[in-house]
Amino acid sequence: MAFRTNHFRRALVNWYRRNGRKLPWRETSDPYAILVSECMLQQTQVASVIPYYNEWLRRFPDFGTLARASESQVLRTWQGLGYYARARNLHAAAKIVQDRYDGILPRTIATMQKLPGIGRYTANAVTTFAFDESVPIVEANTARVLARIFDLRERIDQMPGREFLWQRALSLVPKSSAHIYNSALTDLGALICLPRQPKCGICPVKKFCRAKDPETLPIKKARPPTLRLTEHHAFVTRQKRILLQQSDHRWRGMWILPPLKRRSANRRPAYKSIFPFTNHRVALNVYAQRRQKIENRSQRWMRVNSLESLPVPSPHRRAIAALLSKRPG
Ligand code: SF4
Repeated sequence: MAFRTNHFRRALVNWYRRNGRKLPWRETSDPYAILVSECMLQQTQVASVIPYYNEWLRRFPDFGTLARASESQVLRTWQGLGYYARARNLHAAAKIVQDRYDGILPRTIATMQKLPGIGRYTANAVTTFAFDESVPIVEANTARVLARIFDLRERIDQMPGREFLWQRALSLVPKSSAHIYNSALTDLGALICLPRQPKCGICPVKKFCRAKDPETLPIKKARPPTLRLTEHHAFVTRQKRILLQQSDHRWRGMWILPPLKRRSANRRPAYKSIFPFTNHRVALNVYAQRRQKIENRSQRWMRVNSLESLPVPSPHRRAIAALLSKRPG
């Protein structure tokens, strides 16, 4: 039976008007704010993003302000959201928009995609949510809904499957009020068509759905196994200062406790924790050391009372706070 596109859209949008999420970035059509929200939402849950989004817009309300900020201010404001390449890309994109386009985001998808960190999805999302243009979006939520509705039995992380989703999304998106329809499709994935135990019993588009076994969809490559890593760092203080090192790899540009090549022999760590990082489970061991000279140009003695304004990744910030609180005096 042919897919009844108009009926599908109407059922979806009617449900959304009653049940859609109220999100701060849905109350604006400012392309800058929407781009910020889209960058933050990559790999991160909505509830975690909301306070960061509000604070970011308070500190950097437009491309110009962000372009003029230092990398340290940018990373400090992003601190805790993880995947810091997103913040660096947003910063770099703001500088280009400011210099080349007078602080106004170019409206064409192809030009937007030339900016750092902006791929097909993000460019389309900004175009539909800020400019209300009739373009499709395919991200985790909408990909899951579409794969199930059309019972797609191909992997969605490979070209034919991914292209199938984009084509279907394109065929469904309405000519007008596309931003409402795209928000509705996203919310259906976030609230009803869940990865596990989709709520098919109360799904507003159930009669259009061809999935026979929805929980098995979408099909994608199995996650890589979790790898265990152990990392050793030093905690060294001198009067009211602490020795830190500016990272040049994982947390590039942020300040971390100085790494040790190997664990301190015969000593127990003063602080231990475990944190996830992409597909790694990292055991962090921190050793209190009495004396240490600066070993390389990226190390510096920092005032303890300036730590609040420095970008420090959360696992190291927690370690520093715990160790400073144990320190006498
Ligand atoms: S019927 Fe179930 S699988 Fe199909 S779209 Fe609705 S929630 Fe998803």
